[in-house]
Amino acid sequence: MRFLLLFIGLLVASTPLLAQGRALPPKLIVQITVDQLRADLIERFSTGFSEGGFRLLMTQGTWFRNAEHRHANTETVVGHTTLSTGADPAVHGLIGNNYLDTHLPPPAPTKSDTEDKGIVLDVSDALHFATQDPHSPLVFPDGSHSSPKDGRSPRDLLVTTIGDEIRLSRGEAAKIFGVSMKDRAAIGATGHAGTAYWYNTDASTFLSSLFYLADYPQWVHDWTMQELPARYAGSGWELLYPEANYAFADYDDQPWEKDYPGWGIVFADHLYPDTSNAYYQAFLETSPAADELTLSFAKAMIAGEQLGEDEVTDYLAISLNSVDYIGHTFGPSSLEAEDNLKRLDAQLADFFAHLDEAVGLGNILLVLSADHGATEVPDYMNARIGTNLQLFDYDQVEQAPAVQKFKALYGISDPISHYTSPWIYIDHALLQSAGADPAKAKALIATTLRSLPGLAWVFEKERIALGNLPDTHLGGAVTANFLPSRSGDLYPILSPGWFMKDPDPLAGASQHGSPYAYDRHVPVFFMGPNIPPQTVHRKIQTVDVAPTIAAYARTRLPSGTTGRMLPEVLD
Ligand SMILES: [Zn+2]
Repeated sequence: MRFLLLFIGLLVASTPLLAQGRALPPKLIVQITVDQLRADLIERFSTGFSEGGFRLLMTQGTWFRNAEHRHANTETVVGHTTLSTGADPAVHGLIGNNYLDTHLPPPAPTKSDTEDKGIVLDVSDALHFATQDPHSPLVFPDGSHSSPKDGRSPRDLLVTTIGDEIRLSRGEAAKIFGVSMKDRAAIGATGHAGTAYWYNTDASTFLSSLFYLADYPQWVHDWTMQELPARYAGSGWELLYPEANYAFADYDDQPWEKDYPGWGIVFADHLYPDTSNAYYQAFLETSPAADELTLSFAKAMIAGEQLGEDEVTDYLAISLNSVDYIGHTFGPSSLEAEDNLKRLDAQLADFFAHLDEAVGLGNILLVLSADHGATEVPDYMNARIGTNLQLFDYDQVEQAPAVQKFKALYGISDPISHYTSPWIYIDHALLQSAGADPAKAKALIATTLRSLPGLAWVFEKERIALGNLPDTHLGGAVTANFLPSRSGDLYPILSPGWFMKDPDPLAGASQHGSPYAYDRHVPVFFMGPNIPPQTVHRKIQTVDVAPTIAAYARTRLPSGTTGRMLPEVLD
């Protein structure tokens, strides 16, 4: 008897070993999404990487090197939400950073949070941001609320996320959180359950909205009162390592980099001004500071909410945005992008060490991917390999003689109500009131587009709805991005390497959002108990990530999932 008791005692003591054998779901799932991390960039900039950052995932995790987003509109909210739901945007509903929604009353426009929304040539009251919700104002630290127009929620998200499913499966004891600099990234990754936090430049801290909470726990106030964002004032962004570690050491000063006054295009000029400077917060975003702040907030959240402390699986979505802001400003092939990735690697190493200390990596499923890749600056490509890539100037369509003639004939200023990448919306009401046939106007715009250099394909809404597209990856990608109530009348697709010229003088040097390899190809890593260290070259898709997490966590599949469970992670 005494022997038997001793034996049972040994079994209890060896529970961590049982956990290694996948008897238990993880205590914590951390799903990191790096905004604009094209798959090749990790190795391209890896000189000087530590052992504990990306290399930990590359050597200890399962690394899918051939993962792609299969939807056409490779934008922030679209990719984050596909990774959290396993659904195509046609099903999860967040088909772009902006769209019109025929099911919604037109909300008022908002001036806040205008970066990286894609190109918006015609903003009117009807245009809708993917996470905009006038019923869910922001909650400020002092308890006051924002105006309804700045409200944010997952109202437009039509399916459940992995966080939602963990809450449904485990109840309130399962803590669900998300954090990002960007509202649409935090909300798309987190979903309906739990709390999504995103950065607010007016409050200089991470906030949420009334959809998620009415007031803040003490740890949020404590983090805010440290005033970490203000501490960068007077310091500079310098290279992390000696110049010999950098592929782009000789290319700090490239003519196509976006020269924001006060921030410059060379490291000597990257000096954070005083906090009273109107662009102070913008410079925090266009530098490694954005990720440092996000990960600092995530650490405070882990401690404050006691994530991973009990046996009930918790979920934390972290979206890191410096790679994206810097890629837009200086291009993905720049010394700034290279140094930022080395700094992100060091920050991840620090964060993984923190997770190990706080929760134990043996209790955590760690997933890392990207919401989309990155398009090179056309002039960079032209200079390096002699291509003739250009920016597509949408003004050419409006100035085309046939379009001008049509406008004069019916006495209308513009047959298009909105162009917000990637969709063109025809102004049906205006055309009908002027006695014009909207179908003819649409055909005219499509014909005009097709006649212009740099334009590869134009797909009409009716064709997409009927499945009348080429049986190619391009046709499939457009279909995966199509939701009749939100999609526009025309989907123009530029030739590879081209992107739309943005009339905004503050627009960056580079974009993303195409259905081509450089925007679709992203890394996918899984690391956790019983997941073998291996490199996988089989093609997988980002819709496969959420069902694999669901299987690992023993939950129901998110409601819109069409992806496959990845056997390399689960078998
Ligand atoms: Zn972006």
